Amino acid sequence: MTTKRNYIAGEWVEGQGTLANINPSDTGDLIADYAQASPAQLEDAVAAARQAFPAWSQSGIQQRSELLDRIGQMILDRRAELGELLAREEGKTLPEATGEVVRAGQIFKFFSGEVLQLRGELQPSVRPGLDVSVTRESLGVIGLITPWNFPIAIPAWKIAPALAYGNCVVFKPAELVPGSAHALAEIIAEAGVPGGVFNLVMGPGRVIGDALVNHPQVDGISFTGSQNTGRNIAAAAAARLAKVQLEMGGKNPLVVLDDADLNTAVECAVNGAFFSTGQRCTASSRLIVTAGIHDRFVEAVCERMRGLVVDHALKEGTHIGPVVDARQLKQDLDYIKIGSEEGARLACGGEQVERETPGFFLTPALFTETTPEMRINREEIFGPVASVLRADDYDHALALANDTEFGLSAGIVTQSLKYASHFRRNAQAGMVMVNVPTAGVDYHVPFGGRKGSSFGAREQGSYAREFYTVVKTAYTLA
Ligand code: NAD
Repeated sequence: MTTKRNYIAGEWVEGQGTLANINPSDTGDLIADYAQASPAQLEDAVAAARQAFPAWSQSGIQQRSELLDRIGQMILDRRAELGELLAREEGKTLPEATGEVVRAGQIFKFFSGEVLQLRGELQPSVRPGLDVSVTRESLGVIGLITPWNFPIAIPAWKIAPALAYGNCVVFKPAELVPGSAHALAEIIAEAGVPGGVFNLVMGPGRVIGDALVNHPQVDGISFTGSQNTGRNIAAAAAARLAKVQLEMGGKNPLVVLDDADLNTAVECAVNGAFFSTGQRCTASSRLIVTAGIHDRFVEAVCERMRGLVVDHALKEGTHIGPVVDARQLKQDLDYIKIGSEEGARLACGGEQVERETPGFFLTPALFTETTPEMRINREEIFGPVASVLRADDYDHALALANDTEFGLSAGIVTQSLKYASHFRRNAQAGMVMVNVPTAGVDYHVPFGGRKGSSFGAREQGSYAREFYTVVKTAYTLA
């Protein structure tokens, strides 16, 4: 099997050692070996990006728009193959994986149009005889660091605006999912993006990621990943005053009120908490349920959970694929133990199971009789483990929902317009879902959170330009 290489300065280059990419649905399935970039190669990538920046940032927006459209179309044309690769390396089901690929294609197409919408302002000065213009320029060389749970959509929502607004990119994907990143790099190269404008460096976060964050020639870092890593990146970026954007974890509440439609509530809970194997930053991991519907809700959710097929991600009929790797499986099982030790009741699921292929299979777990201070209600587990908190009434439910250091998404299921509107205004989260699951967000509107979930400008949609451009105010003698 040939080693898949890094892409630096328009060339595919060998690295320093390789990393095997293993299928979490079947640990006997080696997808490919991926070259790991050396620190010297990271230097090469940043230097290539720096060198390419003046010409790329001055290139016409028509050229950039066409390139992005081409990349988007190539992704869409290859959706079946890319979806299969993504499901194989990350473990989400084939429909989920293919949906993610389609979203990546749509994101590139969106920014192909969006770059043509860039506007400046020309206005009179308060001083006679002067004009003032306010325009946006490219930020420069940008380091993009991404997590493993959305291996193509998250890179797409960073790479597309970065390139659209005339920046050069050094992209470091998560170690567990080099396949999707590599395939995306192949498409970007094949589409005709000039050498040096886009560079792929695969390698460990603590070495290559850290070097990228600390590199004096890198003007900005856009990071998505865990809160711990994000904090370190923010500190490093602050030390050298680099622009930084962080999207991190969540401990997202879903409030279910007495008047909720039970089917909608179950759908929002099961989809929100367990699909994508619960490995979503927006996962509804805290189900906050008022007393009148509590028992019926728990029973209906457990019944639905028992019908979910946990199996190989590529198998038809699978609802929930494996957990991404052995480390994450151990973390999930540890939290299931912690929950039980803390006095919560494991109402259903939470068992490691064997299937035809050796993989990291875990049935989704639901805890009931939990209290807000329990670790399972405070820490992000990032697996198919959710807990139910009993609330006295709406006010209590809202207080519980906001009782977290995170602020990514928050949902409510209710038929009351009054409570829905109040929740939409008062939930301390960047994204609010009313009677819809947290899964599935649009690609043309901002995505992101508040409090300990996010830092810096929003991603996606037209708001993406905040991070990927810098503002210039110019005074001209009229
Ligand atoms: P992680 O923080 O372990 O890794 C994320 C990326 O950072 C990887 O590419 C990793 O190699 C790199 N990295 C690790 N240490 C680094 C360092 N010292 N310097 C620079 N880079 C470093 O996160 P993960 O386990 O890959 O992803 C799961 C986390 O991502 C969860 O917390 C999840 O909630 C979060 N997430 C957030 C969003 C969002 O938009 N808010 C979306 C998806 C995932």
